[in-house]
Amino acid sequence: MRTVITGGAGFVGSHLCERFLDDGDEVVCVDNLLTGSLKNIDQLAADPRFRFVRHDISEPIELDGPVDNVLHFASPASPVDYLAHPIPTLKVGSLGTHNALGLAKAKDARFLLASTSEIYGDPDVHPQREDYWGNVNTIGPRGCYDEAKRFAEAITMAYHRFHGVKTHIVRIFNTYGPRMRLNDGRVLPNFMKQALRGDPITIYGKGEQTRSFCYVTDLVDGIHRLLKADYALPVNIGNPSEITVHQLAEEIIALVEGTKSRIVYNDLPEDDPKRRKPDITKAQTLLGWNPIVDRPDGLKRTLAYFRSVV
Ligand code: NAD
Ligand code: UDP
Repeated sequence: MRTVITGGAGFVGSHLCERFLDDGDEVVCVDNLLTGSLKNIDQLAADPRFRFVRHDISEPIELDGPVDNVLHFASPASPVDYLAHPIPTLKVGSLGTHNALGLAKAKDARFLLASTSEIYGDPDVHPQREDYWGNVNTIGPRGCYDEAKRFAEAITMAYHRFHGVKTHIVRIFNTYGPRMRLNDGRVLPNFMKQALRGDPITIYGKGEQTRSFCYVTDLVDGIHRLLKADYALPVNIGNPSEITVHQLAEEIIALVEGTKSRIVYNDLPEDDPKRRKPDITKAQTLLGWNPIVDRPDGLKRTLAYFRSVV
């Protein structure tokens, strides 16, 4: 098998590169390093089955040789990143997805889109099931990411229905683990960095908003199963264990023994979703998938990583 992974030098993408190499595949990582880093794939460089192609997938791509799978993960994913790069985010979700689908069609390969729980916006259905259409503010600051991913889902279904491409859509809920960028602005790197440095822990709003955090190896396992399934409609992959941002801050403070960090409260960003939790019935029944790394274990493993880079 030869698997192309766009965004392969990013957090999730680098774990996917590793997993597909472990399976015996050849892996072609396509990345323009906008929010990723060669450090994430350093350990793979010596493997003759691994190839890195520096390329912006929002531009057309031609690759020599056969391709069996195209996994499209290129896109800024942290709110801080996509607010800093709104137009590249819109382009990679639209033009980038079109180009990645074109590659899959030309090579008669399977295609898997990294979609997101953000397509549900600030949801008024809880927990979120795949048949919920969402509540997105098109013109708000998060619209560049949410609408790009909604377009990406639509064009993926069009390639499936019109061109007969074998496609898959994974709706990923907040995922964490080693190789998240220390300064990507997401809540987990922020709180861990702050706790390790003894800086104030910055809760946005009152911290009553909720998220459900999935450890990265569980996500990768779900994606792997979905790719092998004969199913084109979207599937949620996430850990349904829901906590408030305040609880997360307390858990991280307790984990970093001796930290001098205290909680401070900053403004809540516009359109910040109030509650988020995946309904994973579909992944359980269709893929036989369940997350297996619980938060205490996942947080410990992630903290060990951040200790090494902070
Ligand atoms: P990340 O920022 O670590 O990785 C994204 C990668 O895509 C980076 O290596 C970046 O350089 C690359 N990239 C961006 N634009 C590109 C372009 N035009 N051409 C080529 N490469 C480009 O983010 P991540 O957390 O690893 O997210 C990966 C994917 O998973 C994204 O598509 C994101 O929307 C999706 N996702 C992630 C989460 C999460 O919690 N991590 C949740 C939902 C969805
Ligand atoms: N958040 C916070 N402090 C931070 C960073 C984020 O309180 O330093 C909050 C943010 O407002 C949101 C939640 O944590 O409610 C998750 O934010 P993140 O940026 O990780 O991802 P999101 O789920 O919003 O895409």
